[in-house]
Amino acid sequence: MASVLNRPICPDMTDIALLDAALEPIAGKRATARIEGDRASIILDVTGLDEATRDAMERDARAAAAGVPGIATVRIAQTSQRTRRVLIAVASGKGGVGKSTVSANLAIGLQGLGRRVGLVDADIYGPSQPKLMGVEGTRPTAKDKLLEPVATRFGVPLLSMGQLVAADQAIAWRGPMAANALGQLIDADWAAQDTLVIDLPPGTGDVQLSMIQKHKPAGAVIVSTPQDLALIDARRAIDLFVKAGVPIIGLIENMAGYACPHCGEVSDPFGRGGAEAAAQELGIAFLGRIPLDIAIRTASDGGTPPASGNGGEALAFNGIAQRVFHWIEQGA
Ligand code: ADP
Repeated sequence: MASVLNRPICPDMTDIALLDAALEPIAGKRATARIEGDRASIILDVTGLDEATRDAMERDARAAAAGVPGIATVRIAQTSQRTRRVLIAVASGKGGVGKSTVSANLAIGLQGLGRRVGLVDADIYGPSQPKLMGVEGTRPTAKDKLLEPVATRFGVPLLSMGQLVAADQAIAWRGPMAANALGQLIDADWAAQDTLVIDLPPGTGDVQLSMIQKHKPAGAVIVSTPQDLALIDARRAIDLFVKAGVPIIGLIENMAGYACPHCGEVSDPFGRGGAEAAAQELGIAFLGRIPLDIAIRTASDGGTPPASGNGGEALAFNGIAQRVFHWIEQGA
């Protein structure tokens, strides 16, 4: 993993990214920072450190934070209790419905709302998160047999099947191999991250089952498209989670309506309201619809998920992230 010391401090880095970059050399992944106005609040996870090391870390973190432009007050709390991590599975009945796109944007949206989010790309059939998150070609390092997630410029660290094995080989993985790799991604050194968004492969196979049984996600988000009007595949995915006792957070309708690249008007070639009605019928929440919008595809494929910006395309994603955020905060 590239050290932040070698990373240029970009002029467009957000304040929190600057603060994170200042704290990284001192506290690594032990620091969880937030900024409110001109005040930085930092939690240091000091689990396993002796008193002298803890105090030195707090002193150095305080000095580094105070040196970040715009920060007037620094508050630091030490904790030696690791946070219980919430796992959110993002699933779909079939491929190509935008599950990875939704996962990346959901992770960034939840991070923006104050969760500390890591992204796990478990999609062996098409591990696309390194590309979506702008870190294509990176490989995680391992320390004490634990994988170290790769930092992204959105503050959401990432581990992907695609970083462990070439894309055309991963597809040959079956059963235990894929499940074992997924275990390594989830049980990695996620440090202070309190939420993991897990981009599952499409369908209802071994990887999904092993994820559910071994890692007990707090909830699942199902992505579907309006074309799949009967939502037969999505229903199968929903069933898998329900039978295993994993709550369904809700259904997202992606590629819902077509946003004209010229005038922005959204039309509905496949009709409107099908997924919402299906969600109601299934007794699950409807989290929102995302239009089929060329801007979403170009931004995503260019390594800048729309939720990281303020454009119109971010709106739909942010609304969904807010609903999932409330679901988590209400006691996942
Ligand atoms: P999945 O993970 O379900 O296989 P992806 O997230 O990889 O699907 O999306 C498949 C393709 O569709 C990608 O090229 C992606 O950029 C594009 N895409 C996804 N959602 C949208 C959308 N709402 N508007 C336009 N393109 C989209």
